[in-house]
Amino acid sequence: MSLRLSFYGGAGKVTGSNFLIEGAPKGPLRGGKILVDCGIEQGADFAEAEVYGPFPYDVKTIDALVVTHAHLDHVGRIPKLVKDGFRGKIYMTPATRDLAALILLDSAHILREEAERLGRLPLYDDNDVETAFSLVETLEYHTEKEVPACRQAGLTGLSVYLRNTGHILGSTSVRIKNEEGVTIALTGDIGNSPSPLLPDWEAIPDADALVMESVYGDRNHPLQKERVAMLRDALKRAVAKGGTILIPAFSMERTQLMLYELSNFFDAGDLPKIPVFLDSPLAIKVTAVYEKWGMTYFKSETEDEMKREGSIFAFPFLKQTLSQEDSRAIEKVPGPKIIIAGAGMSHGGRIGRWEMLYLPNPTTTLFMVGYQAPGTPGRRIMEGASSVRLAGNEIKIKAKIEKLEGWSAHADRDELLKFAEAALVEKRPKAIFTALGEPSAERFLAQRIHDYLGARAIVPEYGQTWEITRDSVKKI
Ligand SMILES: [Zn+2]
Repeated sequence: MSLRLSFYGGAGKVTGSNFLIEGAPKGPLRGGKILVDCGIEQGADFAEAEVYGPFPYDVKTIDALVVTHAHLDHVGRIPKLVKDGFRGKIYMTPATRDLAALILLDSAHILREEAERLGRLPLYDDNDVETAFSLVETLEYHTEKEVPACRQAGLTGLSVYLRNTGHILGSTSVRIKNEEGVTIALTGDIGNSPSPLLPDWEAIPDADALVMESVYGDRNHPLQKERVAMLRDALKRAVAKGGTILIPAFSMERTQLMLYELSNFFDAGDLPKIPVFLDSPLAIKVTAVYEKWGMTYFKSETEDEMKREGSIFAFPFLKQTLSQEDSRAIEKVPGPKIIIAGAGMSHGGRIGRWEMLYLPNPTTTLFMVGYQAPGTPGRRIMEGASSVRLAGNEIKIKAKIEKLEGWSAHADRDELLKFAEAALVEKRPKAIFTALGEPSAERFLAQRIHDYLGARAIVPEYGQTWEITRDSVKKI
């Protein structure tokens, strides 16, 4: 009895995660079908047909979807899947459910605006998001869950098992097993462990075939260990200038890490007590989900901290500005002050307004704490441009730009190799597929897995199907 694995996204690309796993057919009966992730493609190579076009499989015959985590490139097309006729179960951790609900409603809102601008129908709407969540069944880590529809459909019962990957709150790897114990595991995104919030990623010791992410397959995070000290020093420099400190941050994980570190700096007396504004409705809601699930999913030291302090993200002079009115009032507050707002790459969200106002001022400091995709305003700012185009205006940049490395939520080159090594200890996978990366990163990681660990590593291509048995992995 074999399993089949097909790559319908995230092959040669960082985004658009979408994998299909099928049980072997028995006579006229088909095997069970499980999708892992249903993400949207993002970035410069945005492929419209792959986002708006039909899925490359019969959506109605899919029994279940398992979601690794709530980033848009892993969940962004779930409402479209439902709109196109999927009615199976959707499995995810409870934290992922809460985060994905926020992210997908936000996404539906952005898609509606985009559709109005372009004069066409949106990819999906709020109703599709609602229908999708009516199909969600939450699943905890370390629980073997048989997918019932698979048994009815094709006799080969498939089961699902989740493990923490330390990437963002609720993130998980997915192992799928058939009745004979043949297993495929997919990592989703692997965290940049150790994180101050989440436990380290868990090894996957029981896969016949492993699909692992490789975003940083060819690069290390050189400054991960020193990142907190560098943030502290940069903040001290910025506060001394007396101006505004802008932190464009992604709403999920990055914003909470910044709040956590700021709270620690203030507690330790490393920074004077200056006003901090969390000026992003989405980030405010996401932070509430982090607070809600902290005692369940954070590492034990951090849970102890929560018990002692009540909240690890809030502090007395942090103001969450949910309404437009509260947001606008930030302008009246004199510096030094800190504004954390989305979007992380300065393309949309409330940060644009603050950049237009404060970038021409030499007392301003802008912090860059995340990846800036080519073509985004954030990328231009990071590359030292003297001006940047925001909302149709060319804005002069006189502000100091502080680039801070090491804040990625992804494991780096050496950590990924460690992950692969840990997977080889017990039930040695017959093949490790390197996916969810740029082609060069996928190839580099595959080469290292082969050279350093002596394992078979494969760089998959979009649309390929592989057959996995107890003894072999082969392309069909
Ligand atoms: Zn992710």
